[in-house]
Amino acid sequence: MGDALSEMLNLAKKNGVITGLVPELVEGGLTHLQYADDTILFIENNRKNLCRVKFLLFCFEEMSGLRINYNKSEVFGVCLEEQEQLEIAQMLNCRVGTFPMKYLGIPVSDTKLTKSDLNVVAEKIENRLATRKCGQLSYGGRAVLLNSCLTSIPMYVMGFYLLYEGNHQRMDAARARFFWQGTGKKKKYHMIRWEALSTPKEFGGLGFLDTRAMNTALLAKWLFRIECGESSMCINLLRTKYLGQCSLFQKEPKSCSFFWTGLNKVRDWYNYGRGVQLGNGNSTRFWADVWRGDCALNIRFPRLFRICRENVATVEGIISGRQSLSFRRNLGVAEKEELSELQELTATVRLREESDVVTWKLENSGKYSATSLYRFIVNPGCVDLRMVDVWNTRVPLKIQIFVWMVWHDRVQTTVQLKKRKWGGQIHCKLCGEMEDLDHLFFKCPVALFVWCWVRDSLGWSCIPASLGDFQDDFLGGHGDKDNRLTIFLFAGVSWALWRTRNDWVFDDLLVKHPNQIVHRAFGFLQYWCRLSTKGARTKMEELLTKLHAELAKL
Ligand SMILES: [Zn+2]
Repeated sequence: MGDALSEMLNLAKKNGVITGLVPELVEGGLTHLQYADDTILFIENNRKNLCRVKFLLFCFEEMSGLRINYNKSEVFGVCLEEQEQLEIAQMLNCRVGTFPMKYLGIPVSDTKLTKSDLNVVAEKIENRLATRKCGQLSYGGRAVLLNSCLTSIPMYVMGFYLLYEGNHQRMDAARARFFWQGTGKKKKYHMIRWEALSTPKEFGGLGFLDTRAMNTALLAKWLFRIECGESSMCINLLRTKYLGQCSLFQKEPKSCSFFWTGLNKVRDWYNYGRGVQLGNGNSTRFWADVWRGDCALNIRFPRLFRICRENVATVEGIISGRQSLSFRRNLGVAEKEELSELQELTATVRLREESDVVTWKLENSGKYSATSLYRFIVNPGCVDLRMVDVWNTRVPLKIQIFVWMVWHDRVQTTVQLKKRKWGGQIHCKLCGEMEDLDHLFFKCPVALFVWCWVRDSLGWSCIPASLGDFQDDFLGGHGDKDNRLTIFLFAGVSWALWRTRNDWVFDDLLVKHPNQIVHRAFGFLQYWCRLSTKGARTKMEELLTKLHAELAKL
């Protein structure tokens, strides 16, 4: 039904009955925005205009049989005295609203949005996480929920505004708290920095969304839309208002809206993925884009670039002679040589009539995607191959996360807890030795017992003495096919040891015989075996058969 109102307003505008705002930016002026049942009317402030809009709304109600809920409607005056706003509100039968208002969940204001205005995002996340019933949820389950709590509104707002560092910190804190302690009130130790958790999995983290990077990637999409020639009303408005005839890189942002300032701050990241095919040269940067040969001119002619005056010149500007290739001082011999080479290179350039085509280098399709820029930003450049093998091992997510923590020495052994000023005993409750990671999983007598079972089953000549030993001598290089099987085995053994230790430490439940731990480990492996792919299953079943044969002898 909303469409009918929109149609009426468009007709009224077309026939000059009402006038919209900013006619210099939007053809005929902007009269309304409508999405689902959220509608904003834009009215130029004069009595005639207001009366006519009021009348149109009245007609709409009569014709459609719908009632506009004026109690829920608000009037916002931009640059108006309070008295004036009150009069208008009375005339239209609604309240005077105060900025920031919310449109489609996004805060909108006539002044700069503050950190607390934008905390709606963090609050949304906090609320969403708080209502999860997850007392018993594993790390795996929480990890899944964590990534799903960032959908819709938070992402939507991050697609509009560059959030403040404080907003991100609050989101990080809320998510970290949820990951470590769920929704319980009891404080739990955070064993790993949040930054490490939000590193992508293949680089050694847990792959939680890095909101700073995502914020940048979502905003950069606007820059691409502006540059790639999209002609929606919104993009046209931005282009007319902020750029005029200039390209995105010629305009230095002066005082402008909060939204536009945000876009300008992500420009450098956007540049990493931006590519350009030369047409008329208007959007191609002479120095910084790759448009002649296969590298940018500022890299090919570094001496000249360092002393040139117009370092943001466009190709069109230089080739047409509108902008000059001038330098801050006289050229030396080497620089003169560079210059003649440069002139030779550009002498044969013929610009065409069509506009330059801006493309996106980080996607094969050439079309912008936030994911591609996000991955580019969060990529620390160095793949953690060991962890890639773990993520490829078919065990439940919570077990993968557990192995991840073991490999980073972040399970809550007493030695680790002591570092966090925990007040308990640091000795192994089973044997009295100091309980660190290697003790717990390799050196403690019960661990030795379990590993001996593995050794005898598989015909190993020795057992791993420590985690480092296990990683160096029992795992092959990355991509070694047997690695997944060995990690699978390690997961079963270490998880059984860990669970047994926790039963004893927290619930005073002690196994009667180490055999029981072996049975437990075997049980886990047998259970997880069902998760494996068909191809891998044969080998896995072979392994289980060998383990089982030895188990029977115990
Ligand atoms: Zn021990």
